[in-house]
Amino acid sequence: TLPQGLAPELQPEHQALLRSSGAEVADWDTALGQFGHLSALLLEASATTNLTALRNERDIVIKHFIDSLTCLRGGYLQGQLRVLDIGTGAGFPALPLAIAQPDLQITALDATRKKVDFVARAAGYLGLSQVTALAARAEDLGRAAEHREAYDRVVTRAVAALPVLAELALPFLAPGGLLLAQKADLSPEELDAGLRAAQEVGGEGVTVDRFHLPAGDARSLVIIRKVAPTPERYPRRAGMPAKQPLF
Ligand code: SAM
Repeated sequence: TLPQGLAPELQPEHQALLRSSGAEVADWDTALGQFGHLSALLLEASATTNLTALRNERDIVIKHFIDSLTCLRGGYLQGQLRVLDIGTGAGFPALPLAIAQPDLQITALDATRKKVDFVARAAGYLGLSQVTALAARAEDLGRAAEHREAYDRVVTRAVAALPVLAELALPFLAPGGLLLAQKADLSPEELDAGLRAAQEVGGEGVTVDRFHLPAGDARSLVIIRKVAPTPERYPRRAGMPAKQPLF
């Protein structure tokens, strides 16, 4: 039940790129079909809105799909885990992760209603009933009883500097839960500040996985574990974490 006129198959070379990414995908045939539909939906939406800057299938496959799937590196997203994607935008990394690992229960959060509406619509077309799209600010949701300490994993891509992410994400994690933060550029200073901020909110650095996308771009996946309860005063009110980062 796709909108009329959408060609849902990915081009064969892009299917091959996805398969050769090395990502742990539960069922490639189903996944490739869903990625085709998602690419078509993104291209359709990008023609009329500024939802995504990527306007061709190859860029979408590498910079959205394969990049999102790098969260699966290290095996931290296996099993029936409750996952929150903070600042999901058009659904990244939430939607590719839901396609690859259907056991994950994924909540895709964004402050912008228009983006959340797209994610909900896309999840509906793709039959991803395990994805919930929510419009809220992380600072507000992190104080709500039903969301605080309610997730096994938080993923986030291209949302804020690491100290800000630590304050936004750690309140959501249950004890022992992990933050997986995808960073394009990660300076030693940002990492250092991020780890200090994490400690302030109950987190501890686990590892930084550095690698390259097929197109050559450098990426880092920062893993932080929740080792202590987050103090009640965090997250501070909306806007504060970014305006006055902890470190
Ligand atoms: N993660 C997506 C991606 O990589 O394509 C979107 C990245 S976009 C640059 C950043 C998104 O984070 C925006 O959609 C913005 O609305 C959202 N965002 C930023 N701060 C937020 C907050 N405090 N709570 C919820 N969403 C936030």
